[in-house]
Amino acid sequence: MLTICDTSKATAEPLLPAHHSGRRSIRKRAARILRSIWLGAGRAVLGTLLPPRCQACGCSTAHRAREKSAGKKAAGCPGPDPGTVLKRYLCPTCVQTVVAVQPPLCDCCGKMFISREGTGHLCGHCVKHPWSFGRARSAGIFDQGLATLVHRFKYSGRTGLAKPLGMLMLAVLLDNWNLDEIDRVVPVPLHRKRLRERGFNQSFLLSKAWPSLSKAYHTPWPDIPVDPCLLNRTRHTVSQTGLGRRERVVNLKNAFAVSPGKDIVNLRLLLVDDVFTTGATVNECSKILLKAGAQRVDVLTLARTK
Ligand SMILES: [Zn+2]
Ligand SMILES: [Zn+2]
Repeated sequence: MLTICDTSKATAEPLLPAHHSGRRSIRKRAARILRSIWLGAGRAVLGTLLPPRCQACGCSTAHRAREKSAGKKAAGCPGPDPGTVLKRYLCPTCVQTVVAVQPPLCDCCGKMFISREGTGHLCGHCVKHPWSFGRARSAGIFDQGLATLVHRFKYSGRTGLAKPLGMLMLAVLLDNWNLDEIDRVVPVPLHRKRLRERGFNQSFLLSKAWPSLSKAYHTPWPDIPVDPCLLNRTRHTVSQTGLGRRERVVNLKNAFAVSPGKDIVNLRLLLVDDVFTTGATVNECSKILLKAGAQRVDVLTLARTK
């Protein structure tokens, strides 16, 4: 005769009498609490013995505590200035090497004009090769201090940098866009293979805290979702680093698609990426998004090349 073994019942059966398993779980919980107390105490002792280090050059940043209180004093301002945000993570020398993107800029791609000839016009590249996106803006120049921070963040897994770097971007976002004109924030996706290797999508980490960080700028965040799954990287591509403009465009052909089930018809999107180098990645993404019905795509990156 065939007997059917009910495995759900077998596993649900307690191995010990109720009072034994109860005592065991209390003991386990107590051990867990003790362990976390020890770990916390250990971290506090290490923090005292080892002074905080500059995230870019690694020198001691004993000034950090003083800068924190300076930041508090400035709380009445509309928001923390980029210098104050960075001083918590970098030594004064490295803060000086971070160059903010400042006007006059190209109206479209946000390139800084070398001559101070004023705004209201396009750079040579934008005149010759119009982009798919509406306009692009960046927080800083991808050089020296900011380039080091981006590398540490992306390749050394210093994900704690996402918050200060994201704050720099948020300041630029609030400066250049009216939040009512954005329906969705779209971080540039990584292919699942790269995501597995790195463990995180840097563009998503930079933007995911904006809804809460916007309080620091006294600006309520309207209900704008940050959607890391809207776009999908369908093809694994070789790293864009070291490739020329034309090679980058070829490398990215058919690499992105709007995820199935995502309706973006008539939406105004803000595409987010870490670095704007030749603009090939954000342009390819913009093309795909517009083709799928988006009304407009603008771009915000943490850094851009000169
Ligand atoms: Zn430094
Ligand atoms: Zn331009």
